[in-house]
Amino acid sequence: MTKKIEPAEKRPLTVLGPHDVFRFECHQGLDCYTRCCRDITIFLTPYDILRMKNALGLSSGDFLSAYTVSMIGDTGLPVVVLKMRKDDEKHCPFLAGSGCTIYPDRPWACRIYPLQPESTTLTEKAGKLYYSVMDVPFCRGLLSDRTVSLSVWIEEQAIPVYHEMEALFKKITTNERLTKEKITNKKIQEMVYMACYDLDRFRRFVLESTFLERFDIGPETVEQIQTDDVALYRFGIQWLEYGLLAQHVLKIKPEAMAAKKQALGIE
Ligand code: SF4
Ligand code: SF4
Repeated sequence: MTKKIEPAEKRPLTVLGPHDVFRFECHQGLDCYTRCCRDITIFLTPYDILRMKNALGLSSGDFLSAYTVSMIGDTGLPVVVLKMRKDDEKHCPFLAGSGCTIYPDRPWACRIYPLQPESTTLTEKAGKLYYSVMDVPFCRGLLSDRTVSLSVWIEEQAIPVYHEMEALFKKITTNERLTKEKITNKKIQEMVYMACYDLDRFRRFVLESTFLERFDIGPETVEQIQTDDVALYRFGIQWLEYGLLAQHVLKIKPEAMAAKKQALGIE
């Protein structure tokens, strides 16, 4: 059943429950085909970038400089946006005549369309994700006779792994302390950008600096970090929890701790 909830700004809002259905079908025969892949703002999640750069066979650094722009968001944390082409219609760089050239690895925002997440005080407290159907006048797919439930749509679009990866990122972006005190320190902003978005650089930082001399990281984790981007991303979030949120999720080696104390003149 469709539920009405009262969002923070007191606007009536219709959200979909898991079994609520909406009308939608997208295919090449529609005259609006690919119209939605032009002149849009797509915020990329860390997992979007991981998937897209690997699909394209690029390093994270090359992907970020070729296809994205980054900026600092309201909380002081960096955000990354997909850069549209500079042609008259500002097409997505991954759009070809036949459609999306990275379809299996398209970003979360493209998967979830025509739905949009609804973030309200109520839903955040409940720790659940709610969606509503977007109102896009040119989208003929919304007039289809085909109905699909929210839960089926989430599965069809292979969204659960994106939710899982985003939940890790939200440990940082929705942390109460960080959201209250806007981050202005450029080094911290750079640290978040590297660990979340520029994974190949983060890998070099972990493996090629004094990082492993300072932190007690098991050989299995080191091996995973060398070869597995998802493991590296998980580790990056842990590093941010340790460094930004002072959570004891990483251990400093005793000898590194002793050297640090000596440098600080602590017995
Ligand atoms: S039906 Fe909607 S989603 Fe599909 S191509 Fe047309 S505008 Fe885009
Ligand atoms: S990534 Fe693919 S689906 Fe998303 S806007 Fe670009 S071409 Fe369209």
